[in-house]
Amino acid sequence: MTPEQSDRFFSQDTTARVLVVDDEPRLASALAALLRGCGYDVTEADGGKHACQLIDTLHFDLALVDLRMPEVDGFAVMAHLTNRQPECGSIVISGESSFTAVSRALRRGALDYIRKPFDPDALLATVKSVVGKQSLLKAHEHIQGRLEKSEALHRYIVNSSPDIVFMLDASGHFCFVNNKIESLLAYKPDELYGQHFRHILDDRDVAKGIYALNAPDVSADNPRTLEIRLKTRGSRRATRHFEITAFPIDSQTWTHNNNLRVDGGGQNACYYGTARDVTERKEAEAFINFQAYHDLLTRLPNRALFKDRLELAIAHASRGNQRLAVMFLDLDRFKIINDTLGHAMGDRLLQAVTHRLERCLRKADTLSRFGGDEFTLLLPAIHGHEDASQIAEKLITTLKAPFRLGEHEVFVGVSIGIAIYPDAGDNMDQLIQNADIAMYNVKARGKDSYRFFSESMSIDSTNRLNLERDLRLALERGELRVFYQPQVCTKTNRIVGLEALVRWQHPERGLLYPGDFLALAEETQLISQLSEQVLDQACRDVGQWIRSGHPELRLAVNLSPLEVEHPRFVETLIDRVNANQFPAGNLEIEITENVIMNDLEQISQKLRELADLGVRIAIDDFGTGYSSLNYLHTLPIHTLKVDQSFVKAIRGGADDACIVNAIIAMAHGLKLEIIAEGVETDKQLEYLRTLGCHQVQGFFYGPAQPAIHISKLLAQTTLSTAIPG
Ligand code: C2E
Ligand code: CA
Ligand code: CA
Repeated sequence: MTPEQSDRFFSQDTTARVLVVDDEPRLASALAALLRGCGYDVTEADGGKHACQLIDTLHFDLALVDLRMPEVDGFAVMAHLTNRQPECGSIVISGESSFTAVSRALRRGALDYIRKPFDPDALLATVKSVVGKQSLLKAHEHIQGRLEKSEALHRYIVNSSPDIVFMLDASGHFCFVNNKIESLLAYKPDELYGQHFRHILDDRDVAKGIYALNAPDVSADNPRTLEIRLKTRGSRRATRHFEITAFPIDSQTWTHNNNLRVDGGGQNACYYGTARDVTERKEAEAFINFQAYHDLLTRLPNRALFKDRLELAIAHASRGNQRLAVMFLDLDRFKIINDTLGHAMGDRLLQAVTHRLERCLRKADTLSRFGGDEFTLLLPAIHGHEDASQIAEKLITTLKAPFRLGEHEVFVGVSIGIAIYPDAGDNMDQLIQNADIAMYNVKARGKDSYRFFSESMSIDSTNRLNLERDLRLALERGELRVFYQPQVCTKTNRIVGLEALVRWQHPERGLLYPGDFLALAEETQLISQLSEQVLDQACRDVGQWIRSGHPELRLAVNLSPLEVEHPRFVETLIDRVNANQFPAGNLEIEITENVIMNDLEQISQKLRELADLGVRIAIDDFGTGYSSLNYLHTLPIHTLKVDQSFVKAIRGGADDACIVNAIIAMAHGLKLEIIAEGVETDKQLEYLRTLGCHQVQGFFYGPAQPAIHISKLLAQTTLSTAIPG
């Protein structure tokens, strides 16, 4: 600040107030007049005592003090002044010119010394200079005060900022950081000074942070903003998310303010930055993100995330010439459990199922909930079908054990369709769709099993819609046909029974098999109508054969789990049988073990009612369901149908067929009838015969055929060889 500036500053405040002290009134008033003439605000005191009184009451900027005065001399006045108004300057005016007096006066704080008699110009010049100095001092003090206030204000602003404010030197070391860092991350600012900022970066974000610091084209107008994780002090795990805005400090702006005192020696600061805690927002985002890509009930990836992962896996497999498997899993009987035990139980069941499934998987596999009781599974990098088979078997097995839901014990099975890349499709949608088709194929063939997609299954989804419409029409127009597969007694070579198998004579597609439309019928609730038609037709056909000389002839019908589980199942069935005047004793219903295990109590009741009416009960696909065989003792079961897969295992070697062996032995032990299904070769037939299984069914004796062919077959009383197809 120049003297002119300080003058301006001073005069803005007030004109200088001067106290003139002299015991010689003439001298005092002359001095006063001289000063007043120059614009000073002058007060006269006629002695030391008067001066002290004035000092007590008025405020002065400068005092001109005579040294030698009676009673109270100039030194005493100066002492009083220093005591009461320390900021007021004083000039000594005295006839004394001795060195001691002058030096004493100056030691007491006099700013200057004027000797009497004085030269008015010299006096005025001295007064002006002292007043100037005084005001400069005052201005300085004032500015200092303002500076301190301003610094306190800035410090307050900086430290009360909701964000961390920091400065780094050229190499990234902290040279300033506000107190906020303590409440957010528990570091004391002092301990960070001189530390590299990497020190507080989460290990995963170090590279990102360093890169950002050195990024080009960053300035205060174009600051760099990045999201980064910072570590809290002393804990490696607790990290918080911050949004950092930083830019290099413009050296010109900074040097001007460099006289500000900065705690961390901010002088070397090259970067300025703020760090905003966005942890809550990040957590909310993460949750929303999780929600968008996961199913909240099972916490599994959802459809969207599954597709994403599948897409990546396909790209990877295609580059590496690898295979991958997509599985479509659909729980069997889930809907019924959900409907009967309630949704809360249904939810618990889904969680429990998820838990078991997950335990069968490797880390790289993705299990997702596709919706409802449908799951999809991605197995990246498999070697071949066997790998997928193994996993599928594991999954099926793990769900076999009953689930405890409160006081209920329930069984669910799973039907798995598998599509292998690239054989069953080279893109995501195709793979999922084909796995789905394969799954429906499993459902149609007795459930609780797995199948690989094959071209013959492919009914694409638009076709599925068309097919549903067609199926409704088919039921109205009577396009369903019932074919009969003979069940032959190998001792007599006679047809002892006929299994009714539904076919659909589609007007465009030709003859369709249950695998093509049964699952659809179940899904669309058309199954009961379908069954009714099949049962009516079968009762009429077989009833007629019974009446025309084959009184023992058995009619075997397949029942979908949905029908059996229907509360009015028994009544409906008996109504149909009676309506067609079919002898109940000639009827055998085929159900699977799964149906029984699903709700043992209800089923036993129903089966008992039917058995009381003479209806026979066969367990279809025996051996593929549950290991628990207790129900065989307690339920009115008449027949076990050995599943085709066991019969297929008979290829000559005796060991291959040990399961058939065991099943047949058990059936004999329990005095149950046994029918082997899927007999195709005479080897199989021979083998079954030696085991004492005398009823067989299969291509060896012929496939299911229309009634007209069966009529002819029945006309031959004995069958000497394979029935012509
Ligand atoms: P299923 O009850 O196990 O019927 C046996 C299946 O094996 C039939 O297939 C039959 O044609 C086939 N088959 C018979 N002998 C042989 C053989 O020697 N070798 C081979 N490889 N296969 C043989 P289809 O007719 O396609 O029926 C499939 C499934 O559809 C049936 O399995 C049954 O569960 C269901 N189904 C058929 N008709 C009906 C029906 O009217 N109602 C209900 N609810 N389900 C039905
Ligand atoms: Ca059957
Ligand atoms: Ca079967």
